[in-house]
Amino acid sequence: MVVGVVFSEAGSVLIEVAELQRRVVQFDSYFAPGAIVLADSDWRQDDRLHVVGVAELLDRQGSRTIRVRGEIDGQVAGPCARCLELVSEQVHEKFDLYYYPMAMIARSEEIRIERDDTDIGFYEERGLELGDVVREQLLLWLPMRALCDENCQGFCPTCGNIRGSAECRCQKNLVDPRWDTLRHVRSKLKS
Ligand SMILES: [Zn+2]
Ligand SMILES: [Zn+2]
Repeated sequence: MVVGVVFSEAGSVLIEVAELQRRVVQFDSYFAPGAIVLADSDWRQDDRLHVVGVAELLDRQGSRTIRVRGEIDGQVAGPCARCLELVSEQVHEKFDLYYYPMAMIARSEEIRIERDDTDIGFYEERGLELGDVVREQLLLWLPMRALCDENCQGFCPTCGNIRGSAECRCQKNLVDPRWDTLRHVRSKLKS
């Protein structure tokens, strides 16, 4: 089996159908920081991402399907859900995906896509952009709620600074409102 290797420091690695027709393509790519734009999310790729894997062409239901398998390693950064401080998260994600030709969408009523293929997408005529695959996987992976620290106190409702920070001096005066009733009872007993 002949194998082609693609190295990339930029954001673009096109896995071409023409090449896949000749051989299985192995890729080993680095995406420079910011090369993968995580649009519609508060996250960004702030470190180099390493993507290794293999792409092959399969004939499924008369369609040239690209199966792409691999692993993403790197780091992304996004805001803490409580204080908006930037949080870095390590990514170690495996993927195994099937991409059908875009032209198949038009015929999708005739061809029933196999039910088991939950991880499917579509590729343009020339081939599959690895950067797009990585972006989709990262967007799926992104944590719903990241915290800079499990004990992050978030913003102080009184002064607007981070609670517990040097700027916030309200801490001592803040009393849990749940104690209010008890205090009320106590003061009544005293009087
Ligand atoms: Zn935080
Ligand atoms: Zn405060």
